[in-house]
Amino acid sequence: MEQHGGKVPDTHASLLSLPGVGDYTAAAVAAFAFGRRETVVDTNIRRVHARLVSGLALPAPSLTASEMRLAESLMPDDVTLSVRWNASVMELGALVCTARSPKCSDCPVRDSCAWLAAGEPPPTYTPKGQAWHGTDRQLRGAVMAVLRVADSPVAPELFERPQPTSASTPRARPCR
Ligand code: SF4
Repeated sequence: MEQHGGKVPDTHASLLSLPGVGDYTAAAVAAFAFGRRETVVDTNIRRVHARLVSGLALPAPSLTASEMRLAESLMPDDVTLSVRWNASVMELGALVCTARSPKCSDCPVRDSCAWLAAGEPPPTYTPKGQAWHGTDRQLRGAVMAVLRVADSPVAPELFERPQPTSASTPRARPCR
């Protein structure tokens, strides 16, 4: 509020300076909200790059410098195209090149896929399932669900954190 005139800043560097905003979020907001050329690398994009380009069933357990270099090298120079590229690769990973059962027969880039060409080698490690209940990620989703239907600003201190032990979908609700 004080440093950005009450507006969400529109560059990667200024977004990154906000508390709680990391590299991925800064890049994603700068690209998708403000149309900037940013190297956005989420789980889906990493998986597509690993299969399509590197011929691996899965990317490394955590993001590596060589993955970032690969993502940067694949990014179109044109700004508008780069935004479409990020969205397209992300969607390809979410809908077609999925973690457990990639739909290779429906894939628009199957003829270029290094993983298919290599004979679909298995993963070199067993991925750990990600915790969900009680995490900040779960709470963020619940907060967004409230904000999507709110017709006026909702004070953050009015949200209740969901209990970690709950197996049900949490609800962040404004306490009135
Ligand atoms: S052909 Fe299959 S493994 Fe390769 S990018 Fe497409 S969906 Fe993924």
